[in-house]
Parts: sequence; structure tokens; C-alpha cells
Amino acid sequence: MIYCQKCGTENNDSANVCKNCGEVTNKVELKKTSRTVELVLGIIGGIFGLLGGVFALMFSAFAPSVGGLGASAVLASIVGIVGAAYVMQNAKWGGIILILSAVWLLISISVFGVLGAVLLGLAGLLAVLRK
Ligand SMILES: [Zn+2]
Repeated sequence: MIYCQKCGTENNDSANVCKNCGEVTNKVELKKTSRTVELVLGIIGGIFGLLGGVFALMFSAFAPSVGGLGASAVLASIVGIVGAAYVMQNAKWGGIILILSAVWLLISISVFGVLGAVLLGLAGLLAVLRK
């Protein structure tokens, strides 16, 4: 049994409207896949990527050649976090953005960014493949 939210009348589970007041009881819920996993993975991956990028930037004080890669990694991580947020709106394109940012991050800093890239890539794959 379900109770009407408006008047409190008991209605059958299958009833779509309250028999007493006509209030809609069985709100048709859109079946939407939760994208929390992708969001969390993407954000954590992005944070790891950011840390790796910042670390590479700091390291570039000693090895200037790493500086550009660090900046690139920071950008890739930001794109990854944006992609993770976008998964909530559009899983397919958010996932593609995530995967691109993961590849970008991997190219940028293969050593420092690898964990972030793996997480971002995983989040992207989940978003694209999970129905
Ligand atoms: Zn009612």
C-alpha cells in the first residue's frame, strides 16, 4: 500500500492517482543510470593528474624540459574533471572527454600522471560502455 502524499489516503501500489483526491501517486520515475562512480573516479583521477602536473611544474625548476609537460598535465586534468562533471549530463560525450583527458595526461607525464590517467580512463570507459 502507498499513502497519498497530499491527503494521506491509502491507495493500491498499482494506483496511478489517489482514489480520494486524484493526486498522482505513482510518479513515473525515469530510469537513469547513476553516474556517481564515473563522477567520483573522474574527479579523483583529475586530482591525481593535477597533483602530478603541479609536481612536474615544481620539478621543472631543476629540469626545465618537464615544465611544459607539467602545464599540459594540469590542463588535461582540468579537462578530465570537466568531463567527469559532464558525464552527469551526457554520459557518452562526458566519457569521451574523460578518455581523451586520460590519454592526454598519459602523454603529458607518463610517470606522475599514470594513476590519474588510469582513473580518468576507467571513468570514461564506464560512462561510455555502462548502460
Ligand atoms: Zn489523495
